[in-house]
Amino acid sequence: MIDTKVRFAPSPTGPLHIGGARSALFNWLFARHYGGKFVVRIEDTDLDRSSRASEDDILSSLRWLGLDWDEGINVGGGNGPYRQTERLEIYSRYAAQLLENGLAYRCYCSEEELAAQREAQLAAGELVRYTGRCRDLSPEDCARLEAGGRKPVLRFKVPADKIITVRDIVRGAVNFDCAGIGDFIIIKSDGIPTYNFAVVADDHLMGINHVIRAEEHLSNTPLQVLLYEALGWDVPEFAHVSLILGKDRSKMSKRHGATSIEQYRELGYLPEALVNFLALLGWSPGTEEEVFTLDQIKEQFSLERVSKSPAVFDLEKLNWLNGNYIRHSSVERLAELAIPFLRKAGYLPDVLDDSVREKVRLIVVAVRERLEYMAQINDFADVFFNDPGYDNSEAQGILTQEQVPAVIKALRDKLVGYVDDLDEDGARALLKKLPKELGIGGKKVYQPLRVALTGKLSGPDLHHLLPVLGAPKVIVRLEKALAAVG
Ligand code: GLU
Repeated sequence: MIDTKVRFAPSPTGPLHIGGARSALFNWLFARHYGGKFVVRIEDTDLDRSSRASEDDILSSLRWLGLDWDEGINVGGGNGPYRQTERLEIYSRYAAQLLENGLAYRCYCSEEELAAQREAQLAAGELVRYTGRCRDLSPEDCARLEAGGRKPVLRFKVPADKIITVRDIVRGAVNFDCAGIGDFIIIKSDGIPTYNFAVVADDHLMGINHVIRAEEHLSNTPLQVLLYEALGWDVPEFAHVSLILGKDRSKMSKRHGATSIEQYRELGYLPEALVNFLALLGWSPGTEEEVFTLDQIKEQFSLERVSKSPAVFDLEKLNWLNGNYIRHSSVERLAELAIPFLRKAGYLPDVLDDSVREKVRLIVVAVRERLEYMAQINDFADVFFNDPGYDNSEAQGILTQEQVPAVIKALRDKLVGYVDDLDEDGARALLKKLPKELGIGGKKVYQPLRVALTGKLSGPDLHHLLPVLGAPKVIVRLEKALAAVG
């Protein structure tokens, strides 16, 4: 067994998105598959955009998805703190080491000077990168500039004429020419490290040996490799997971569906469905199978089966998967999930007694086949709570058929004297007898009954609807329909 250690290192600049969740999941799966460790670290060096609210959202989304971590933020471990802004001293120590060894230097170029350098490079048709203007400043130059009020950044000296080969588990060997990389900043003028520097120090100090992250970081990797080498540290293995595209092959955005995990949670998606879906965004088991529990994916997961090509975010597939998980969930669980939606729509009071809870359970039984996610329960809930109107022409067309009064009366009369529990089996038995007793076909019986009870031509099965309403309510609605048909 390999002693693997991986991490998820989100920047708390917004909620946990689909892409971040997929990175977290792949790291989690890798750690769990090999019996390794999964670390969660917060990369909050972007002081303007980072917030504790985003951090909380990310962590709560991870927990909701079932992705627990062995070391890191809120959990602890021997390599903390796990928030980068609390590790500034650590970064300065290693920056000082690079400075002493002549591998980094202070740069005093102002924004305006940098812009002018860029302009000149563009005009000369050269690659745009830092020119190295401050590389050879003497201590006296530095002292003079500082006396003039300039605050330096620290830049890493990128070696000339070097090719960096990143060996990526997903993408194979990728070469980067140092000629295209300018001396990059490792510590900003306010003392905060840049992402590339902090990530290397943290991954090394936390013992991370596999870095699994989004493809967008591939171009940062040669810079990080240079830093590992300069600091004399082992370079971890890398695996850059492909971009997630919308179905139209453009970069995943709000247009393709909700982008944050919290939004899916709020819409009543089930975490196991989302995790199943996320796993298939780039990983494939090599079979046609698509429905997996987290445990099953964990058993089968390997980076070798992660694809180089972009993953396509297909909301219909997520909905299909989620509907599938809904149909296999317990009625009890679904009822608990349904309650907030029904309450929000004004169908339920704040405090629920047992009979209301039972009603919600029966509603769930009646509509679960039609739900892709729990928020949709309100698309169907109306018929259970509001008495029908018969004002649409289709409904009227059905109710004016000549057999209708007899059909309605037949069911009403059965219910008036009905003493058994009107559960699904009871309702089924009762409804089944009607066509024969009336001597007419099933459609001519059931369609008008549905319209009489709901005002609609489609909806839940009658044997599910009747138990939700209960006999007295069914009778009231049948009487109302009778009155309407005259
Ligand atoms: N904080 C970076 C991000 O959220 C992490 C990148 C990495 O995994 O190295 O994109």
